[in-house]
Amino acid sequence: TAVIELAAATKSYPGGVSALRGVDVRIDQGELVAIVGPSGSGKSTLLNLIGTLDRATSGTVRVAGYDVGGLTDARLSALRARHIGFVFQQFHLAPGRDAVANVADGLLYAGVPAKQRRDRAREALGRVGLGHRLAHTPEELSGGEKQRVAIARALVGEPGLLLADEPTGALDTASGEVVMNLIHALNASGTTICVITHDTEIAGRLPRRVGLRDGEIVYDTRAAVTTP
Ligand code: ADP
Ligand code: ADP
Repeated sequence: TAVIELAAATKSYPGGVSALRGVDVRIDQGELVAIVGPSGSGKSTLLNLIGTLDRATSGTVRVAGYDVGGLTDARLSALRARHIGFVFQQFHLAPGRDAVANVADGLLYAGVPAKQRRDRAREALGRVGLGHRLAHTPEELSGGEKQRVAIARALVGEPGLLLADEPTGALDTASGEVVMNLIHALNASGTTICVITHDTEIAGRLPRRVGLRDGEIVYDTRAAVTTP
């Protein structure tokens, strides 16, 4: 089943930049996809459309079975809270708040009571291997640990889809590898994942690569992948 389906999707920003010029792509449940391309090619714009953080100028975007164009902003927020987790290059953790509080924030819009939010946050931190860092604030954690906290926050709501924009971009090679191993493990347990990366070595290890250039898909290795 398709988790994501874009047809002739375009995105123009005010001022006239055509960031996406007609993108067709389908991503099925359980896939792990790298989105690659030079700076300015439209990768973040594409991820923002897939994540329903932004709307296409024309064309259709379907996510988790919903035609995004037909939903109000409120319905989109609800869709995101239920189905999509986000990870960013710069972690975006709340300073001075411990790992449990940061991860529990991932359930703020899911209608989960506070006590349960903290219980589920502890469990999610265990899943990313940070069961021993529950009370640490971002200031007390390494870059790789901060990104694992951010991943725990993204997955605490059990989203079917995880979107990561340069998740290793601010990390050294060793921490980046830990984060990518975690992403592979999450995918193996069923989460559909899209990763933007500049790192050709990281992209090369992912089962499918979608290449963007000047707002268009210039290659998609899906043809080479045999899906049963
Ligand atoms: P990438 O992630 O591949 O670097 P982006 O999606 O960020 O590419 O950007 C694609 C194009 O859209 C670039 O020309 C960029 O300058 C432009 N762009 C991105 N965001 C905005 C915005 N909010 N307003 C205007 N132009 C933007
Ligand atoms: P950068 O790659 O420059 O570090 P980020 O990875 O932090 O940027 O963010 C990538 C995109 O996601 C940007 O367009 C930004 O506006 C958006 N973004 C960042 N944080 C959030 C958030 N918490 N919620 C929604 N969108 C966000």
